[in-house]
Amino acid sequence: MNFLDHLMKTFFLTLFFLINSYVFYGQNMTKPNQMKTDKDWKEILSPEAYHILREKGTERAFTGKYDKHFEKGVYVCAGCSMELFDSSSKFNSHCGWPSFDSSLKEKVNELKDTSHGMIRVEIVCSNCGGHLGHVFPDGPTQTGLRYCVNSLSLDFKEE
Ligand SMILES: [Zn+2]
Repeated sequence: MNFLDHLMKTFFLTLFFLINSYVFYGQNMTKPNQMKTDKDWKEILSPEAYHILREKGTERAFTGKYDKHFEKGVYVCAGCSMELFDSSSKFNSHCGWPSFDSSLKEKVNELKDTSHGMIRVEIVCSNCGGHLGHVFPDGPTQTGLRYCVNSLSLDFKEE
C-alpha cells in the first residue's frame, strides 16, 4: 500500500470513529425517559397512573394510598423511579392528597398552569416530565410550601 492510500484509510477510519462517538454521546445526552412515547408509557403504567402522570389527571381526594402514609423512606416517581420527596418533608395537610413542604433538590420542576380557570403552579418529575400535582404557597411549616401530590404519581421506598 502506498503512503497516500494509507493516509486516506487513516483519515476515513478516524472520521468513522468520530461520527460513531458523536452519535453515542448524543444518545447519552438525551434522558431516555423523556424520549418515551405515549405508547411506551401506556405499556409501562396502569391506566390510572397513565391518566395522572401523562394526562395531568387528579385522583379523587382521600383515595390515594399515600395520603395517610407516614413511614420513613423516600417517595419516588411512579413513572421513572427518580427520588422526589423524603418522608421527613411529609405532613398531614388534611386536603386528601400526600403533602410535602419541600422536594428533594432539583428533582421537581415547576410549570405555570392556567387550566380550570385558576393560576396554579404544576409540579412535574424533572427526569420524565410526569405530572405530580401542584405546589401552593400556603404550607404550615417554615418553607411555607405545600407540595400536593397524587399518590398514583408516587412509589415508596422504605428506609
Ligand atoms: Zn419521573
